[in-house]
Amino acid sequence: MDDVISQAPAEKANDDRHAWAEPGVQDLGSGLYRIPLPLPGDALTAVNVYAMVSDNGVDLIDAGMALVQARERLTEALGQLGCGLPDIRNFFITHIHQDHYTLAVELRTTLRGQISLGDAERANMDAIRDVAAGRAEIGFIDMLGRMWAAVLAEQVRGTMTSRLADPQPKLQWSDPDRWLPDGAVLDLPGRTLRAIHTPGHTTGHVVFHDAAAGLLFAGDHVLPHITPSIGFQPVITRTALIQYLSSLRLMLTLPDTRLLPAHGPVRPSTHARVHQLLEHHEIRLAQTLDAAADGPVTAFAAAGALPWTRRQRKLAELDVMNQLLATGETAAHLEVLVARGQLVRSRTPEGVDLYRLPG
Ligand SMILES: [Zn+2]
Repeated sequence: MDDVISQAPAEKANDDRHAWAEPGVQDLGSGLYRIPLPLPGDALTAVNVYAMVSDNGVDLIDAGMALVQARERLTEALGQLGCGLPDIRNFFITHIHQDHYTLAVELRTTLRGQISLGDAERANMDAIRDVAAGRAEIGFIDMLGRMWAAVLAEQVRGTMTSRLADPQPKLQWSDPDRWLPDGAVLDLPGRTLRAIHTPGHTTGHVVFHDAAAGLLFAGDHVLPHITPSIGFQPVITRTALIQYLSSLRLMLTLPDTRLLPAHGPVRPSTHARVHQLLEHHEIRLAQTLDAAADGPVTAFAAAGALPWTRRQRKLAELDVMNQLLATGETAAHLEVLVARGQLVRSRTPEGVDLYRLPG
């Protein structure tokens, strides 16, 4: 799930925001191709799969979602490149969200491709299986209780019940063949990638860095058009935005690279976008601090005081899932302000988190 609600400005105001999602194959040089695959709904439009093609076969970064249309589109695209699904050797997946992971699992049932995923994603995998098996409630519904958003929690529960009525949860959420530790080196034909852990969007998110070619396969860590949702994963962590901001700064310690995102067009500079995202969050932190200044406030109340989307809409004008994202994002910003000593958090006897200025 990705955030479409609180948008950092795109690099150019007037470029066509959806051209990148058009079906086809973009040749990025040296045997590397970008293949956008369709997603349901119109929020994200598509997910980019990057194919590295050599005489030995095909290695993919991210796999797309287990949908018939996505599988057909991938087959067609690989066909244009003179190969096919059986040539896939590896699926290197940036994170556990279904738009990146699940088509790999489906294809692995009949093909030889091996799946790799960041090893910090293990807890999310266990929790997803618990939810799919009906043993637990999804973490972010539970979280809404702490935010004094019980009504919203009920609405989200209703929406998610139908979404989770997945006929093949066990298939979709089977383990990868390989869990990648931070710094794992992937030796591929003519190319070496390093997996770098970038917790934030999910706890186990990784990016793949090709230092020699100056490329960053960024997954959902750095997106050119939108700010990724923070910590919307089965295992909720309070520190998701704190982690995300340091994972963004980590990108500035690498030499600048071409940005190859999972959603959106290829961009010449990762650093340029990282600076914009950091700036966006500082603005949001200042607004969130303002919203808590007359506190104590709950995350839900603070979210109600903030503007949402590029159109500056009110929280109540958003649909249920976007209200959930907005409330979670506000809580994440409040937690950064607590970590920086600008707010303090207390807990009511009912277990609700309240935020206020210190002193
Ligand atoms: Zn995604």
